[in-house]
Amino acid sequence: MPNLILILGDQLTTDISTLENADRKRDRIVMAEVHDEASYTNHHKKKLVLLFSAMRHFAQQLEADGWQVHYQSYHPDNETKSLEAVIATQVRETGADRVITTECGEWRLHEQISQWHERLGMPVEIRPDSRFIASKQEFANWAEGRKQLRMEFFYREMRRKTGLLMTPDGKPEGGEWNFDADNRRKWTGKPPAPAPFRVEPDGVTREVIDLVEQHFADHFGTTEDFHFAVTRQDAEQALDYFIDFALPCFGDFQDAMSDGEDWLFHSILSPYINCGLLDPLAVCEAAAQAWYAGRAPINAVEGFVRQILGWREFVRGIYWLNMPGYAKENRLGNTRALPWFYWTGDTKMRCMHKAIDATHRNAYAHHIQRLMVTGNFALLAGIKPEEICDWYLAVYADAYDWVELPNVLGMVMHADGGYLGSKPYAASGKYIQRMSDHCANCHYKVNKATEDDACPFNALYWHFIDRHRGDFANNPRMGMMYRNWDKQKPERREALLQRANDLLARLEQL
Ligand SMILES: Cc1cc2nc3c(=O)[nH]c(=O)nc-3n(C[C@H](O)[C@H](O)[C@H](O)COP(=O)(O)OP(=O)(O)OC[C@H]3O[C@@H](n4cnc5c(N)ncnc54)[C@H](O)[C@@H]3O)c2cc1C
Ligand code: SF4
Repeated sequence: MPNLILILGDQLTTDISTLENADRKRDRIVMAEVHDEASYTNHHKKKLVLLFSAMRHFAQQLEADGWQVHYQSYHPDNETKSLEAVIATQVRETGADRVITTECGEWRLHEQISQWHERLGMPVEIRPDSRFIASKQEFANWAEGRKQLRMEFFYREMRRKTGLLMTPDGKPEGGEWNFDADNRRKWTGKPPAPAPFRVEPDGVTREVIDLVEQHFADHFGTTEDFHFAVTRQDAEQALDYFIDFALPCFGDFQDAMSDGEDWLFHSILSPYINCGLLDPLAVCEAAAQAWYAGRAPINAVEGFVRQILGWREFVRGIYWLNMPGYAKENRLGNTRALPWFYWTGDTKMRCMHKAIDATHRNAYAHHIQRLMVTGNFALLAGIKPEEICDWYLAVYADAYDWVELPNVLGMVMHADGGYLGSKPYAASGKYIQRMSDHCANCHYKVNKATEDDACPFNALYWHFIDRHRGDFANNPRMGMMYRNWDKQKPERREALLQRANDLLARLEQL
């Protein structure tokens, strides 16, 4: 009897645990572009193109390697609209008596698949996802008994575990665990940022672009200028390109933003790592090798490795440790609806317009835009966590619940009460001015706070500080903000709060 081997759209690697001990002659691989997965959120059109095209290429590769693959291409009239329906049909067709899958990345789907054995009346084996460096259990063991979970300590464990950037006697290379203090330079155009790595769409991708244009026309974003890699070979070239041209400056300008440059020195590898085209550990090893070979400085390489070995693994651990309750957290009690300009980019706030416009065109914005612009604004304006989480899940090519949710709900919105981050990343316009050239081109004046043309981030920042005194006044990392607020004259505080209330009352017009 054959086994049915389910490979999901973010499991596109022959190293996936489902394929261990599989028999090419006996077993059947099932891959499917199903309505339920393509439509549970307003996925960016470029994300749909990336995943459908990468899935089709991967299926072709499996077939060329001698596997039997049942592949369901998307069509709105397909009778089988869910993964369960596809599997049930395949069970009937093949007489399979076992389903094998690798644990999926989203609680929603995990809940469904965990019930399949009862619903299908056969064993459904769910294997661990060995692409992650720490298993769920390993993270849970590390977290157990700790009052606060801090990424930095977990990251050091991961460095020790993998030996990445470690000396033979177990010390961090370069003498420090973390070179973040060196990674805060503003970018003024020099050195020039490399153009993003491009792959021109082949016939398969062009077909998928037509399909997405036809059936997902109302989804966010555009398919225009699609240039993501859709195969492992091309994604590996994207990695090489990053190491050659962007990694040397990645550290220095990691927190920078630019009015004229979408990508700066970021790797743009998350869409590939998250869907399986690149292996996270191999990516970190390639960066470490660049340091050993003298091709990139330690602040760049350590900073890059920390994002993957540290943050990426850490947020995944937090997700699985705390779901499903985590998704419902709203400890700051936010109630405001997401302004419509998050979908259109139609706002006079230049930094917001630039971040949203890039998101719309590219299905990408870099970390600081996500954290300190669109995220910061949502935090200051008190947007409902579920609405801003839904937005982030929809608009990025790399968005999956396990990575998006802790980043947005925990890191950005502080809705988990400080479980993930020790202090909220709230900032006034000054921070955006320091790290970018947006303010020079903005309708608002970053040096003003209470006037009609004052930067909205300024008054909203103080409103946030004031309205959450009960939440943060005793946080040692926030004490200075409260001292600064209390030092201001009462009339000034009153004017700032009035300006903020006025802004909050007409968010849509900003
Ligand atoms: C509000 C918000 C939402 C986010 N949503 C997502 C998401 O849905 N999917 C996603 O992959 N990342 C998300 N991130 C993390 C980060 O912004 C992206 O991974 C990064 O911008 C991807 O671009 P890059 O590959 O050029 O990253 P680089 O800046 O080149 O970083 C290298 C790699 O590090 C990893 N990484 C960096 N920061 C994080 C982080 N905080 N969490 C997890 N991995 C990280 C990614 O794999 C990334 O490819 C989010 C961050 C914030 C603040
Ligand atoms: S002035 Fe304010 S709104 Fe305008 S770009 Fe600067 S920070 Fe953004």
